[in-house]
Amino acid sequence: MMNAFDSQLAIAERFVKYIPRGEASLFSGDHRASVGECVERTVSNMIAHATGYDHWILAYSGGKDSSTVATLIVSLLELGVLERPKTLTVMYADTRVELPPLQAAAREMMTRLRAMGIAVLEVCAPMDERFFVYMFGRGVPPPSNTFRWCTPQIKVEPMTAAIAEHVGRLGGRALTITGVRRGESAARDQRISLSCSRNGAECGQGWLQTDLPGALTDTFAPIDHWTLCMVWDWLKIFAPMPEFGAWPTRMIADGYGGDEDMRTGCVGCNLIAHDGALASVLKLPGWDHLTPLLGLKKLYLELRLPRHRKRQPGFQYRKDGTLQSNQQRMGPLTFDARLMGLERVLGIQAAVNEAADRLGRVGIVLIDVEEEARIRELIALQTWPRGWTGEEPNADVWLDQVDNDGSVQPILFRELVGK
Ligand code: SF4
Repeated sequence: MMNAFDSQLAIAERFVKYIPRGEASLFSGDHRASVGECVERTVSNMIAHATGYDHWILAYSGGKDSSTVATLIVSLLELGVLERPKTLTVMYADTRVELPPLQAAAREMMTRLRAMGIAVLEVCAPMDERFFVYMFGRGVPPPSNTFRWCTPQIKVEPMTAAIAEHVGRLGGRALTITGVRRGESAARDQRISLSCSRNGAECGQGWLQTDLPGALTDTFAPIDHWTLCMVWDWLKIFAPMPEFGAWPTRMIADGYGGDEDMRTGCVGCNLIAHDGALASVLKLPGWDHLTPLLGLKKLYLELRLPRHRKRQPGFQYRKDGTLQSNQQRMGPLTFDARLMGLERVLGIQAAVNEAADRLGRVGIVLIDVEEEARIRELIALQTWPRGWTGEEPNADVWLDQVDNDGSVQPILFRELVGK
């Protein structure tokens, strides 16, 4: 007699017959594991690792990897391949700065999931932690590769808080399911938490996988073994098929502007050299009204310049009395820079929305009315990041150089710089 595990696998076999094994990816043109094999392994892994949990939480960002997980898992449940947990909740991280076509696709996906009776929670960072409020209200400079405050703050921490609240209400064992995918190249990459810059991965998913407190929920990545080509095959070919749920996933693929190797992240992300995603989207029919968004990346680069920032004057000490190792470091944005940045972003938003109105398209919200009011309020309250008072010199003022060992190198041409 078949036990539950065997019978589930038998159903999985039936499911997989729709996606024959050994079939080359339509996009890779080679003979790596087909989508069918990937699905089959996902099914076995889910049966082995996920079915013992009472509650499943799908961490969804609207990007290709988490969309693949969400549609695949729901399809497997609908087809009876997986046993339903007591609850299934899709949690959408709404950063407000994702690429607009992907935001639109995520909205459609959430409408569809809700229509199927699946609980969808939208998670947004608290007001003062949101991307533009934090930057222009508190004065923290745009994120960079050496100061990446954004991913934890606008993605991971709000999601962690929402999961904690949700799990606290539910009781029982909960599992958070993410779209982390190491694929072929990142299998060699031990630093999965930073995988957003590799293999076209989604910014934030790896952090969720590694940084969610274990006491809160376990985490599981059922498409960990999928390659990028398999993800595209699923989204473009299989998920839209009636057999697998007729999901509106082609528009997610289209949202990448035809660039198959694109990572998912915020529009104008300052951590990548070139925002290829936006450039590709602008070439698509119906999205050229987003052209002013190209100004975001230019603004972030400009705001990192010394003339827009404060600098510690030198001789900063730790609590134990020793000198800090980064003397005279540059810090927050000046008030003038923040106001300039705010006006520029509002101008970009207005330009996009005017074009959208003219062309009968959907507009965008980068900074809403409440956020703008809060930014202006924080500036009026003279708010600085922790450890800064605003009394520090502007970073473009010439100072005698204080080295980390406490030695001082005076400015050589003091007269020339007028100090
Ligand atoms: S996509 Fe870029 S700006 Fe957005 S959270 Fe990730 S690193 Fe930060």
